[in-house]
Amino acid sequence: MFSSSRLQLPGRRRALLAAAAWPLAARARGDGPGLWPRPAAVPGGVARLDLGPAAERPRAFADDVPLLVVGDAISWTALVGIPLSATPGTARIRVPGAGGEREIAYDVAGKQYTEQHLKVPPRTVDLSPADLARHERERAHQQQVIATFSAPPAGELRMRQPTPGRRSSSFGLRRFFNGQPRNPHSGMDIAAPTGTPVVAPMPATVIDTGDYFFNGRTVWLDHGGGLLSMMCHLSRIDVQNGNRLAVGERLGAVGATGRVTGPHLHWTVALNRASVDPALFLEA
Ligand code: ZN
Repeated sequence: MFSSSRLQLPGRRRALLAAAAWPLAARARGDGPGLWPRPAAVPGGVARLDLGPAAERPRAFADDVPLLVVGDAISWTALVGIPLSATPGTARIRVPGAGGEREIAYDVAGKQYTEQHLKVPPRTVDLSPADLARHERERAHQQQVIATFSAPPAGELRMRQPTPGRRSSSFGLRRFFNGQPRNPHSGMDIAAPTGTPVVAPMPATVIDTGDYFFNGRTVWLDHGGGLLSMMCHLSRIDVQNGNRLAVGERLGAVGATGRVTGPHLHWTVALNRASVDPALFLEA
């Protein structure tokens, strides 16, 4: 059962507050239905860290990166995206406060993602100097976009699949081309024909659109609090920077632009600049 004993409030007011906060508190503890995102303290997962009660929403940081903090005065929770490159072991966040800074430690468990070894003609792996220079510029731009941090989302953090189609479970896949490791697969691929509408999985603001070397036509969405979506390989883009989208509102269509072998949607979910498994935000 929910306990509000940490708060020293007159009994009746405490009971009212407890009743009002029940669904959120249940979600924060992980024992109720509708827990979004599903907690998974592994590389590529999301840790839920209890920050306790406070009148105002606390700020929390992983190194200097601001974190998404959700909840209410009775119970705040930091949701921490864990990078695929994280080493299993103890990790820490910082919570500055009036009485000084607290550190909260948590354990990152190991997770073995599948390996995929491909033999491909060397020419298709090695980029030309011009392509390499373009890719470096685009990567620097992407690092700016992914650092976007705006007001936290107000509603629950459940997402809707952005396009109908078969979901691959290839998030985190460790790919080797001709024996050389590439970056792990940082999103979910959804197979769908070119032209299939792609919609916002959660309310969002469009923060970047472009046509990039690897990712093709791409739209970045800001859901708030450092929670972002990136939609890649689009055949068309129907939105502009600054557009506000409701959940389910169209942003473009599935395509095969960029470095791909066939039409599909690549969907990355980033939290505090870490790519995390989009499946954690979806219902089953
Ligand atoms: Zn992909």
